[in-house]
Amino acid sequence: MQYKRRQSTLRGLLAANRLDAVLVTHLPNVRYLCGFTGSAAAMLVTERNCCFFTDGRYSEQAKTEVQGAKIVVGRKSALLLAAEWLSKNRKRGGRWTLGVEAERLTLAACRRMKASLPSHLRLKFAPPLIERARMVKDVEEIQRIRDAVAMGARLFDQVLPTMRPSVKEIEIAAAMEQNAYNAGAEGMSFPTIIASGARSALPHGRASQAALPASGFVVCDFGVILAGYCSDQTRTVALGRTSPEARHAYEAVKEAQQAAIDAVRPGASFSKPDEVGRKLLKKRGLAQYFTHSTGHGVGLEIHEDPRLAAGQYECFRPGMVVTIEPGVYLPGKYGVRIEDMVLVTEDGCEVLTPTSKELLEV
Ligand code: ZN
Ligand code: ZN
Repeated sequence: MQYKRRQSTLRGLLAANRLDAVLVTHLPNVRYLCGFTGSAAAMLVTERNCCFFTDGRYSEQAKTEVQGAKIVVGRKSALLLAAEWLSKNRKRGGRWTLGVEAERLTLAACRRMKASLPSHLRLKFAPPLIERARMVKDVEEIQRIRDAVAMGARLFDQVLPTMRPSVKEIEIAAAMEQNAYNAGAEGMSFPTIIASGARSALPHGRASQAALPASGFVVCDFGVILAGYCSDQTRTVALGRTSPEARHAYEAVKEAQQAAIDAVRPGASFSKPDEVGRKLLKKRGLAQYFTHSTGHGVGLEIHEDPRLAAGQYECFRPGMVVTIEPGVYLPGKYGVRIEDMVLVTEDGCEVLTPTSKELLEV
């Protein structure tokens, strides 16, 4: 991974944002910048250098993982170690502005920081510089994402034959997760969603002890983390006979999803796929049942920028990886969602998820 290049990109953004340094505390951002995968760390990036802080539990791991930064290990929290280091190394001098990740820092942590810094050091909420850099994936990241997507799709193929009435939702989720770990996954991107029958109308219905009914939809939304990168996919399976109304809903979501995918290309705004997908569902009389946004970025985190929803005016760029996942949810009856991951290319997009979207009746 190109850690040094990422660090120097961030450094190059400091002056324009009126910052002398940024203190990075959001762990996926720390991992992105230097490769550290542990659970306690902070990283200080100034115009001249990078300093990495962690506690004693991670001294060995930091030595093998951290790249491009001086490592400081101490007995305090990473945040306080950074404050202490700054107090020592920036004792004198004029006003100095330290950017912090406001969205990721608690008020209490911010206060503690302030209290332990010399008065000529000023804290400022930094804009999401790293999150924005992370939106565009490099070649190595794209390969890891492809591998994660392929593994996720295989998990679905493996459990599909076991989906039959009276099997519990949680049994299907457990089988998927067990297979994922056996295949080398670090974990699941999020708790697996297997929502059957009326539960399929819950957009985030985690797998429960409920048994699959004789007929109805089963929404399966799942993903794996492989070498740090997440996958995210949803398929809706039909058990027994599907009513014409339910089939109409399925086909409408499938069409809306395709229309939204077709709207992903460099120069199109982040709101475009949402707009065209919603328009199609409106034509089919289902727009009021589409109650969430159309998609999100995926990478080191399962939900990251950009957000594909109305009011997002920025545009797609090659190398972005997003989900396209329209759905309709008829309370008490059923729900349908279809979700793929797509990579923005030079002239459009490539659907990464290989699984068929024809209605699967089992
Ligand atoms: Zn999903
Ligand atoms: Zn998703």
